[in-house]
Amino acid sequence: MSLANSLESISIVLVKTSHPGNVGSVARAMKTMGLSDLRLVSPKTPDIAAQDEAISLASGAADVLERVQVFESLPHAMHDCHRSYALSARLRELGPSLQTPRQAAVEAVHAMQQGIKVAYVFGAERSGLSNEELQQCNRQVVIPANPEYSSLNLSQAVQIVCYALRTEFTDSAGENDTPVEALDLATARSVADLQTHWLRAMEAVDFLNPDKPKKIIQRLTRLLSKTEFEKVEVDMLRGFLADVIRVSEGRLYPHEAQRLRIPEKPDNE
Ligand code: SAH
Repeated sequence: MSLANSLESISIVLVKTSHPGNVGSVARAMKTMGLSDLRLVSPKTPDIAAQDEAISLASGAADVLERVQVFESLPHAMHDCHRSYALSARLRELGPSLQTPRQAAVEAVHAMQQGIKVAYVFGAERSGLSNEELQQCNRQVVIPANPEYSSLNLSQAVQIVCYALRTEFTDSAGENDTPVEALDLATARSVADLQTHWLRAMEAVDFLNPDKPKKIIQRLTRLLSKTEFEKVEVDMLRGFLADVIRVSEGRLYPHEAQRLRIPEKPDNE
């Protein structure tokens, strides 16, 4: 089986984890369900996965800990991922669209079978994911729980997500031969670069005032997170935005200068 068609291609990303025991338990939760790609973003100590408590709680999943990768930021950890699911029980204004673990698993396994690289992102034990971290992801997954106490232990949240993935993967086995169009998707990183470019173009034409952005940035983030961009689409949009910026700065090609020498719009129009 190729890696693209195995749960091993799905990354589990833990942001700012403090307890080595949780990292070990996450490794175990992952391996029991057939996942192995564990990534850490700014853990409390860089060697957290090598600590005794982590190794002891990982039990037979020490190999997952040995292959752990540590990153300085969430975008770095997702540099090769095309789709990301943020786990958080807290609903935020203008956050990504919401899913249950099962809905996410159906989508994620289908995506994985098309060679799309998927990441699931979990927050720190105390503070969870920040609004900014959540907005860097395409979907928010909420584990349905007791409304009076809905915060699960980190590794138990990982276990539920991995179980949902395994169940969906097993159920879909045998249907994997359906021919699917191979898409060359843009990574999360290049969609983030597209967003930066887009905001620059909005500023260039005075659509966006960086000192008073209102909700434009959040709305744009939300809009871009809904779409699965192909690389060529990102290139096309960035080419267009580069032209918007160029024209707004008055750097015109002769044929444009000729065409754009038009009277100003009257005030009452
Ligand atoms: N106090 C934190 C929760 C931390 S629990 C907060 O208020 O956000 C550690 C992590 O486990 C969370 O960041 C989230 O990724 C995951 N998690 C725990 N319970 C969850 C739930 N009910 N739904 C989705 N994710 C959950």
